[in-house]
Amino acid sequence: MSDVVTVETTARAAYVVAALLFILALAGLSRHESATLGNRLGITGMTVALVATVALAVDRGISATGLSLLVLATLVGAAIGLWRARVVEMTGMPELIALLHSFVGLAAVLVAWNGYLGVEADPSGAERLALEAQGMAGIHSGEVVVGVFIGAVTFTGSVVAFLKLSARIGSRPLVLPGKNALNIGALVLFAGLTVWFVVTPELWVLGLVTVVALVLGWHLVASIGGGDMPVVVSMLNSYSGWAAAASGFLLDNDLLIITGALVGSSGAYLSYIMCAAMNRSFVSVIAGGFGIEAPASGDTEHGEHRETTAEAVAELLGSASSVVVTPGYGMAVAQAQHGVADLCRLLRERGVDVRFGIHPVAGRLPGHMNVLLAEAKVPYDVVLEMDEVNDDLAATSVVLVIGANDTVNPAAMDDPTSPIAGMPVLRVWEAQDVVVFKRSMAAGYAGVQNPLFFRDNTQMLFGDAKDRVEDILRAL
Ligand code: NDP
Repeated sequence: MSDVVTVETTARAAYVVAALLFILALAGLSRHESATLGNRLGITGMTVALVATVALAVDRGISATGLSLLVLATLVGAAIGLWRARVVEMTGMPELIALLHSFVGLAAVLVAWNGYLGVEADPSGAERLALEAQGMAGIHSGEVVVGVFIGAVTFTGSVVAFLKLSARIGSRPLVLPGKNALNIGALVLFAGLTVWFVVTPELWVLGLVTVVALVLGWHLVASIGGGDMPVVVSMLNSYSGWAAAASGFLLDNDLLIITGALVGSSGAYLSYIMCAAMNRSFVSVIAGGFGIEAPASGDTEHGEHRETTAEAVAELLGSASSVVVTPGYGMAVAQAQHGVADLCRLLRERGVDVRFGIHPVAGRLPGHMNVLLAEAKVPYDVVLEMDEVNDDLAATSVVLVIGANDTVNPAAMDDPTSPIAGMPVLRVWEAQDVVVFKRSMAAGYAGVQNPLFFRDNTQMLFGDAKDRVEDILRAL
């Protein structure tokens, strides 16, 4: 066996090992207890993949400049990644993820354009002749156009998601007249252009596909309102996977195809779960036909709200037999989870039945609250899903709403014109008493007022959630 075959076959074997490690990583990440192990397996898989890829490039005779650029890009990318991962706040994670998705999309566009230029701009025409001889010319053009399309939609869609999640632009949906027709029209145009490009791979067709996809990605995400952003983030996660898989076909890289398919399908599954949680139709999400048509009903008169103090809440908790805590994004902002965990321990020691009710889209990324509570060492068995706790709320003495807003908004059930209408929520208002921890009467992420704050059994405890929880601990 020659050297070349050895490196090729070893690299391919390494790719299989890396793919297995990625699958095990996903399995590990699906449970709290094994998440750290899952992460380590993923890191190992990626290291194996990178080493094998560099070895393969060297074996295939990469130039010294090419190798230097490869190593330099890897080092710079790794340094930026390490730095961002170390400094990013938990609350900034979704926008960082959206930004990373945009890189995957952009990379897929560049790989596809490179695949096109490598063949069509070859002055000798040898590349094209070789593909035609194998009967692969049409397939190659198809891979190029699909790669450009998925990549470009992912790129601009993720940029808009990043801008919305980081509050650089408003979270209100952009409602253009006939927006669904625009999306469908863009898809039909793409289908027509794909056929054209496969038959005659002309530069202007690919240019037009790129522009259509960039505009479609932008429009798809811009027309989604704040409350539906969780679905968008997981959908873009899925798209970024398919974009990577498309690049894998062009580069003839099995591992990229496998990894892309893993990300694409796990992202699609997550989108499905999120859709079920948000009561949105999966099919309409995939078709881009979802979003908010009705304007946010922000000016309804709700009446007066009632304020309370930390001491009064401590007294209320002192006489409670059962307490449910429903945390939201504000708990993450305030970093109140440690205080909340201490409060939970103290109350449990005093014989109070304390549990947590977690809404599937609480916070700014799936599992956000679970991660924070796990970090604060809240026992898993008292952390319940929304559906596990909702029916018990009517028999609960006190619900502490810590920095949650949209996820406890009764308008989702009572007001069909609300932008969050139909989204299942934690029915906290059914409890005997509700205490809402927040800093002001400001709306939540979806930008809608919350009638919960004006109910007779609701009291508002204003201020930073961490400070207020510590005040209650002191009073207790
Ligand atoms: P919301 O974003 O609806 O509301 C959070 C509340 O926390 C705000 O009303 C804010 O009020 C309060 N708050 C902020 N900082 C503090 C602080 N330091 N102390 C006390 N309160 C604070 O939270 P939810 O978790 O209920 O809902 C999540 C929303 O985010 C949903 O609309 C969901 O669709 C969306 N989303 C979720 C994603 C996911 O994957 N989970 C991804 C993207 C979006 P105030 O300013 O008055 O203090």
